[in-house]
Amino acid sequence: MVNEYLRNDPLDLILTDKLNEAFFLLSGNKKCSNQLILKLLNAVKDKPVPLKNLRAFPPKIINIPTSYKCTLGCKMCSSGFQNTTSIREEKFLTHDEFNSLMPWIKESSIISFVGLGETLESPYIFDFLEKTRKKTTYLVTSGVPLKENTFFRLIECNLDYLQFSFDGNSSIGHGGGKKNYIRGFWEKIKTLQKIKHEHSGKTPKISIRVAVDKENIASLDELLNFSYEYKVNEVFLVPFVPIEQMFFDTSLFDNFNVNKNRLNQIIKIWRKKGLDVRTSIKNIFLHNANSPCMSIDNIVNFGYELDSPTVCCSSLSLPIKTQGYLPKEFWNSFPLRYLRYLHFSCEQTELPEFCKTCWTENAKNVSENYEQLTTINHEDALTLYNKASELKRIKKYLESQKGFNQLLKKPLHSSTRSSIYFHLGEIKIIKENYNEALSYMKQAVKFNYTHKRAFTYLYLLLSFHDVPTPIQRKKKVYLKWISSRK
Ligand code: SF4
Ligand code: SF4
Repeated sequence: MVNEYLRNDPLDLILTDKLNEAFFLLSGNKKCSNQLILKLLNAVKDKPVPLKNLRAFPPKIINIPTSYKCTLGCKMCSSGFQNTTSIREEKFLTHDEFNSLMPWIKESSIISFVGLGETLESPYIFDFLEKTRKKTTYLVTSGVPLKENTFFRLIECNLDYLQFSFDGNSSIGHGGGKKNYIRGFWEKIKTLQKIKHEHSGKTPKISIRVAVDKENIASLDELLNFSYEYKVNEVFLVPFVPIEQMFFDTSLFDNFNVNKNRLNQIIKIWRKKGLDVRTSIKNIFLHNANSPCMSIDNIVNFGYELDSPTVCCSSLSLPIKTQGYLPKEFWNSFPLRYLRYLHFSCEQTELPEFCKTCWTENAKNVSENYEQLTTINHEDALTLYNKASELKRIKKYLESQKGFNQLLKKPLHSSTRSSIYFHLGEIKIIKENYNEALSYMKQAVKFNYTHKRAFTYLYLLLSFHDVPTPIQRKKKVYLKWISSRK
């Protein structure tokens, strides 16, 4: 039975292994852009489904945004609130939207109410907490709207973890690093801990997440000292990831090795004193590289567009949307199976480019990526790209390939590089050179993990091969972490 939403898109059907339905749909559609796909579909009839053994259960951790409004205006904000107080007309997650996430909630163990704006601004947050009280719940806030009566209600709703985003004296962080803000923050933590103990409860546990940059690293000892004194349960020291070039110099990624060692030294001292301080869920210390990524299979992160979640704790999205799928279908679609294949069975060099420059996977690479981005000449690349594309359109394939190959020698944005590989791959499909086409489509997907058509070709081309998938799935660190939270 094919869902109504999926019925119209043959690429969705292929990426969820419904090849017969896709074939039926495409046979009645003479759109020339789909003729190559139809030809390949015909050729792979009766071939095994690619990477079919790389299936997994839906994720146990689900991040849900409750608010699209925030008035704090932190300069380091990655949700877009630097210059605005709201990023969506409907300022809060509605009950209907929340209910649409129920199939995911049912599958999960930990529900984290986080962002995109200020979680506690949502007028519905207590309803959501009531509905999830049997799960382990997390709520992330700046703490600004948190009053004593709000805290009592959080206790009544059985909230397990209350996490504050706080960056000490960083001028681009929460409260701009102002002395009054910092003083008010610690006063609040002190009061909340007092209330909690008077209430004779252990929850919510208090957690603090600090985006560490070059400015606040100098006063981290002070911040950790207060955390220790006020019996904060855990402190996450996460390197501030600059979203704009202008903030790169303030981040730890500038002169990374020195800053990494400095941060690790601080962590070491405070862990010895008994404070639970770490850089991420898995790691106590900041590393150059982690492999495989700890997020894989464990987190789904709903954001601005609810039907296009990211499938990890960073921003990696997929070419298909959740709409029309049960969690287990979406979670086992081809793009997710392929992500598992790359992370568990391949070399680091084959990972999606997005992962190679993600700090949780390889913090060192983040700094190198920034340097590379500054040398790209977009206009020059675009002119050459358009020229080579036109040559392909008029079927001058040799000249087109030559143009694309020359362009590949230049520094390029990932999405442009992906498109070039895609075109080169399509030319190879036209020429029926499927092995080379496969190599190109792998590259196209690597440089743009949301490229749906490239993914579709990759699926079909992989079907010709018996891909060995020895899974080196490392110990499920998250599952251990999850069970410790029940
Ligand atoms: S409190 Fe959070 S959402 Fe609001 S501006 Fe600061 S970083 Fe952005
Ligand atoms: S972007 Fe890749 S490496 Fe980073 S958290 Fe997501 S899956 Fe992991």
